[in-house]
Amino acid sequence: PVVTRFAPSPTGFLHIGGARTALFNWLYARGRGGKFLLRIEDTDRERSTPEATAAILQGMAWLGLDHDGEVISQFARADRHAEVAQQLLSEGKAYKCFATQEEIAAFRDQAKAEGKSTLYRSPWRDADEATHPDAPYVIRIKAPQSGVTVIKDEVQGDVTIRNDQLDDMILLRSDGTPVYMLAVVVDDHDMGVTHVIRGDDHLNNAARQMMIYEAMGWDVPVWAHIPLIHGPDGKKLSKRHGALGAQEYQAMGYPAAGMRNYLARLGWSHGDDEFFTDSQAKEWFNFDGIGKSPARFDTKKLENLCGQHIAVSDDAALRQEICDHLAAAGKPALTDAQSQGLEAAMYCLKDRARTFPELLEKAHFILASRPLERDAKAEKALSSVSDGILEELTPQLQNASWVRDDLEALLNAFAEAHDTKFGKLAGPLRAALAGRAVTPSVFDMMLILGRDETIARLKDATG
Ligand code: GLU
Repeated sequence: PVVTRFAPSPTGFLHIGGARTALFNWLYARGRGGKFLLRIEDTDRERSTPEATAAILQGMAWLGLDHDGEVISQFARADRHAEVAQQLLSEGKAYKCFATQEEIAAFRDQAKAEGKSTLYRSPWRDADEATHPDAPYVIRIKAPQSGVTVIKDEVQGDVTIRNDQLDDMILLRSDGTPVYMLAVVVDDHDMGVTHVIRGDDHLNNAARQMMIYEAMGWDVPVWAHIPLIHGPDGKKLSKRHGALGAQEYQAMGYPAAGMRNYLARLGWSHGDDEFFTDSQAKEWFNFDGIGKSPARFDTKKLENLCGQHIAVSDDAALRQEICDHLAAAGKPALTDAQSQGLEAAMYCLKDRARTFPELLEKAHFILASRPLERDAKAEKALSSVSDGILEELTPQLQNASWVRDDLEALLNAFAEAHDTKFGKLAGPLRAALAGRAVTPSVFDMMLILGRDETIARLKDATG
């Protein structure tokens, strides 16, 4: 059975790269009936904060990346990590190193002066225990010193590292705390992780982690190191590019489904498919589709996909997502009546909105109440119609049959009687009914508002 994990360090928000890593692991597991675990790598006590953990969990919840089981704290497992270091020590696969900082620095200086590798070679590796001083020590692994280590990577292919370039990495510091590299391996092993998908900035770590797997005789997980995300300028994506945390994308009003679709396409592809559902993504996601070069973040594409997802979303679900978006953006919440009205009108709002703010702009007619304030474009549209025409419409609407076809026929006939086309009247009508120029069709608005409200707004606008 497949077990993947997302292992963020809680030092900041869930950034786009992290969200994509989480998504890839989630897709891989969910598409194979496997498990997707979450481990918070909070061993760096200075930089880890509970706020960052909360932001990561919130970002994942928004993106719908549900994990199996409890959230695991790496720091809480420090005793277990130390236990593994002790086991390697007792099996002679690791050793106590009593070298002081000064000795190590002196070793390096001398190596440099002699033009040799500055990789530290501890004299304690083969020292007799009887010679051990009563002094602080670290536990180092006995790294292989000849031959090569081959990392089999699903994305990068076989990556070969010469073992004479590996040092006897520290496993346990002199204060008994485990190093990060040990913690990752022990946790992945204990959690039964079968596949590790992460950024290729961890590829070098993989070689060192491999030493621990081999020393412990544990199965090495399948590794897939994915190229990092770049900005539109081809440089590594960063805050400079306006790269934000997941929560900020929610606050900007991107739907989670569109975000998932876009993030899945960021470095992975399935033929020419751009738009797809979660179930398709779960079914299709595999390592073959992961590109070897960095993907570039493209806001336009994100917006297009978001628009397509909004258009096919369930109305009630959209209503909830929009309420969550407003809360995340710190904007005023909708009243119950407003959000009910919004849901009822959703069918004519969701077609062409790429983000929730765009959708809400179109929904202005249902969210605002009389007297409507009109924006400049609406004022302009309203003044483009000759005086008196809209006034004449009101009595006709009083007796009209309030169904789409009849209203359409009525307005077309009305336009004809005034020697014009309905198209010429549509702008002013929208302005009167919505106070905005961007709206759903006039007929949708009339049907949603109902006769009384429609007439009242027309009167407001012409009065
Ligand atoms: N904690 C690491 C990070 O946030 C990930 C380590 C891993 O996936 O092995 O970059």
